Amino acid sequence: MRFAILADIHSNLAAFEAVLGDAEKRGGFNKIWCLGDMVGYGPQPNECIERLQEFEHVCIAGNHDWAAIGRMDTAEFNPVAAIAARWTEEELSSESKDYLLALPLILVEDGFTLAHGSPREPIWEYLLSTRAAQENFTYFETTYCLIGHSHVPLIFELDGAQVIYREFGEIEIKLSQDRMIINPGGVGQPRDGDPRASYAIYDVDAKLIIHYRVEYDIEATQKKMQENGLPEPLIRRLSLGR
Ligand code: ZN
Repeated sequence: MRFAILADIHSNLAAFEAVLGDAEKRGGFNKIWCLGDMVGYGPQPNECIERLQEFEHVCIAGNHDWAAIGRMDTAEFNPVAAIAARWTEEELSSESKDYLLALPLILVEDGFTLAHGSPREPIWEYLLSTRAAQENFTYFETTYCLIGHSHVPLIFELDGAQVIYREFGEIEIKLSQDRMIINPGGVGQPRDGDPRASYAIYDVDAKLIIHYRVEYDIEATQKKMQENGLPEPLIRRLSLGR
């Protein structure tokens, strides 16, 4: 059994397709675990939701998914993110809205807890420090937890009472008894300085989680964003991976 672990697709169909193609080349997968923020920022929200539904999958809600269906006020978003959220709300079909409305905040799948931001605050918390990770280990019961939201691939490993931070850059992690919080990085808007789409595969039999980066047609997404009048800073940042 193999799971594709995808976070923060953000309506970026070109990045999503590149990841699907790459995962297929690397041995394929049986099911997608989607860690939220299917929509927001990018130009093809309906297409991404429809594509995801072609696969066996589970998905949880992210803050941008909630903003796009009016479940959350965009007052706490930065101005360009708020513009993109309003554009997305206008663009979404009623089928897409129904899909997003039904998403849970937390799921437990095969020994993993799935939460968009963190198990403590699934919608809002950016889990980027060892201190925040330490606190969050008390908020889930499974050995492992998968998160997205920061668009930064990383691993927090609990070693005794101590939390160790590791970069998750095109390496494989062997799963042991040690508890871990893992972020596969963002598919549709990477923010760790590498503009390539970021994702992971969990190979259950090998007990491995393998991290991959994939080039995609960034300009194709940027062109669609331009055509739809999405904010310039959101278009630029795709080239920078920040
Ligand atoms: Zn996001």
